[in-house]
Amino acid sequence: MAKKSKIPEGKIKCPECGLLIEEGLTFCPECGNRIPPWAQFNPNS
Ligand SMILES: [Zn+2]
Repeated sequence: MAKKSKIPEGKIKCPECGLLIEEGLTFCPECGNRIPPWAQFNPNS
């Protein structure tokens, strides 16, 4: 099955809660954490 670390294209993972959110968002809609610049790109793409 899919690897656990795989992130869908166009998504980024919130470093705080781990929720997959839309790439380019500044804040996580789940926990309100500010997404740092290093998380603004998808390392799998
Ligand atoms: Zn979050």
